[in-house]
Amino acid sequence: MATPLILTHGGAGAPDEWSDGCQVAAAAASAVLKAGDPLAAVVTAARILEDDERFNAGTGSRLRLDGSCQMDASVMDSEGRYGAVAAIHGLRHPIDAARLVLDSPHSILAGSGATEFARAKGLPPESCVTAAALSKLAKSQAALRSGELRPTDGAWQQGMEEFKGTIGAVARSADGRFAVSCSTGGTSLMLPGRVGDSPIIGAGVFCGPLGAICCTGHGEQILARLVAHRVYLALEAGAALAEVCQAEIDAFPADFSLGIIALSKDQDWAGATGSMARSRDPDA
Ligand code: ASP
Repeated sequence: MATPLILTHGGAGAPDEWSDGCQVAAAAASAVLKAGDPLAAVVTAARILEDDERFNAGTGSRLRLDGSCQMDASVMDSEGRYGAVAAIHGLRHPIDAARLVLDSPHSILAGSGATEFARAKGLPPESCVTAAALSKLAKSQAALRSGELRPTDGAWQQGMEEFKGTIGAVARSADGRFAVSCSTGGTSLMLPGRVGDSPIIGAGVFCGPLGAICCTGHGEQILARLVAHRVYLALEAGAALAEVCQAEIDAFPADFSLGIIALSKDQDWAGATGSMARSRDPDA
């Protein structure tokens, strides 16, 4: 028997004070996990975090530079089942669409095809745009218009100050199964159609019989390093979870953020290059 456990995060760079939202999500997911389904547990956590407007996922997502709201989300379980949506728009819970893709013949649906799929499955049109997101967008657009910020600047790459709030969860059930969920509005300075690491298997998420890994931070750098899969491969090679996660954090390129939450059969780990709102349930 394994010890059931759920970890949630509110994004690399998200202040510790936002951890109360992560705790609400973890506690609700923990109740679901008691019934034995880690996949249902991580979806429950993600839905709650998507509804918390402080976080950059679902309602409260960052907007693209053209003002559109396009979101990425994914789920995976230790049986190797995986579903994701990329640049989906016009729905409150992208994680629900990702969960439905998991049961479909496909692995990833993107753009308007993803949105049409969600509608066909009965997910209603809803706006995720908040006043705070509009004001952040206006700030970014003004900086671009004035020439203060250029696409080649480091500040563009790092998303100015607004780059935080992606959400994720990992769960381990008593019978030793795992699941991971992840959902994001992306970064602040995004072209329409940009897809980050969050919906990409092996980059932002990975899960197998040995554990579950969820990453947050600078999507392009996480994609280039396939962080989640590298952690999993190290577990397969017999490494200790804490050591391998810390090694990924330490080796991440300077000036870019990375956060990881991860579970193995008997360990759990959460850490980041800077702050990262997070929670663990049950708390040790
Ligand atoms: N990794 C996400 C992305 O690049 C952002 C984040 O985790 O904060 O879309």
